[in-house]
Amino acid sequence: MTIRVYVGLGSNLEDPVAQVLEAVEELEMIPDSILVSRSSLYRGKPMGPADQPDYVNAVVAMDTLLSAEAFLQELQRIEDLQGRVRDGEQWGPRIIDLDLLLYGKQKINKPDLTVPHSGMHERDFVIIPLSELAGDVNIPGQGRLTALINKCENHSLRKLVTA
Ligand code: ATP
Ligand code: CA
Ligand code: CA
Ligand code: CA
Repeated sequence: MTIRVYVGLGSNLEDPVAQVLEAVEELEMIPDSILVSRSSLYRGKPMGPADQPDYVNAVVAMDTLLSAEAFLQELQRIEDLQGRVRDGEQWGPRIIDLDLLLYGKQKINKPDLTVPHSGMHERDFVIIPLSELAGDVNIPGQGRLTALINKCENHSLRKLVTA
């Protein structure tokens, strides 16, 4: 049985639109998985340190036979492939960031993997693209997506590339 997963993508270095689209192509090649749909791409202000370029964000839906841990490893392999450097600064600038937002209806709390992704429910750059793909999906522990969207109407996202 496949599991429906959602992946959040973000970039603010080295042509972020191209980085996000390249990551989508790599996601399509993850073993035992298929890419179902991609949201529009959005530009928005950085979270955390303000002395960094604006971000480009998107979300994709996939179906996978992989475990959540194996799927996360694939995401980290793609981050490495695109040349992500980890300098330790929290929420600092990056070539590509791939977060496992949802893994079916599961809640996972392991040292290196928290699902639903922590903070996703309060990030406009996650829930707005997610809403293009996932309708009124339930976010385990946080409630329904439409209720979360209604709480964040003053967002500053600009749509760049339509789905
Ligand atoms: P945030 O997680 O708040 O969006 P970030 O994306 O900048 O911040 P990273 O430096 O990319 O954080 O990741 C730090 C660690 O988060 C990773 O090493 C990974 O083990 C862990 N992690 C836990 N849960 C998840 C998840 N659902 N998706 C991706 N990484 C996760
Ligand atoms: Ca900085
Ligand atoms: Ca992130
Ligand atoms: Ca991350």
